[in-house]
Amino acid sequence: MTENPKIAGLSLGGECNNRCVFCFGSSAPAGEKQYPIDRAKKKLEEYRHADMRRLIIGGGEPTLWQNLTGVVQLAREMGFAEVQVQTNARLLSYLSTCRELVESGVAGYSVGVHGASSAAHDFLTKTPGSLVQTLAGIQNLKRLGQRVVVNTWIVKSNYRNLGEIVRLLAALKVDAVRMAFVRVPGGMTDQEDWLVAKQEMAGSQIRSAVIVAQRQGLPLSIAGVPPCVLGGDAGAQSVCASFAQISFDSDAPCSWTNSHTAKGPECKRCRLFDDCAGAPVEYTERYGWSEFRPV
Ligand code: SF4
Repeated sequence: MTENPKIAGLSLGGECNNRCVFCFGSSAPAGEKQYPIDRAKKKLEEYRHADMRRLIIGGGEPTLWQNLTGVVQLAREMGFAEVQVQTNARLLSYLSTCRELVESGVAGYSVGVHGASSAAHDFLTKTPGSLVQTLAGIQNLKRLGQRVVVNTWIVKSNYRNLGEIVRLLAALKVDAVRMAFVRVPGGMTDQEDWLVAKQEMAGSQIRSAVIVAQRQGLPLSIAGVPPCVLGGDAGAQSVCASFAQISFDSDAPCSWTNSHTAKGPECKRCRLFDDCAGAPVEYTERYGWSEFRPV
């Protein structure tokens, strides 16, 4: 039997101790809580019936649940070969909490870092002190030998500093970085102009970050920015990726992870057509196709 390559996503709810500006489904934490194990079991059974063997546990912020380790252990017992946790890692800055989660059987962590300085990152998380804790969490995970992949949303306030973010993450010895152009569920409006960078402005800066990553030996991928924006050469093609395909459960408040990309009227003339994942639909609906020129 061929293994189902799609990744199952289990959201434990929208509560989060950050208030990120690009997160459109989270809410403030409401005290210490236990996630109902029978609810987790029911959702996980559906995924196992669909032959899914890889699981990402997300939220909101899953480490806010006191029995997260119990959910991880349940997933392992139910036959998930690989369980990852999507987290801001702030609570993992406590070494004992971090160790407990590691020992429950998590295979990898994806952690959000959106700025190279507290001013830049905390501005986007709307939470003073969040970068310091997140970096301490990453350090603890690496100290315990864990695989850490960092996710960075590309936005107007950080695209000029993506190279600095890469340097910071290389120094922390993370395993890979996935940058993705910011998504806006329901479409971009005037209200998001302060958040969303123009792709033609950001392209050269993203390309510079790619070069920094190559020099540092740090694997980097870029989603939501087609290769024509990054120069259109082999170097650009090698880093362009699709948005992650995660099958989140229906209760997930933040499940805007799956691909909604398209190609424009001129794209048929592009020699990269077959290898290109396209541009985010909500971006081209607002700004049109003039920035995406056939290679
Ligand atoms: S197919 Fe279109 S979006 Fe993709 S690289 Fe070519 S011009 Fe750009």
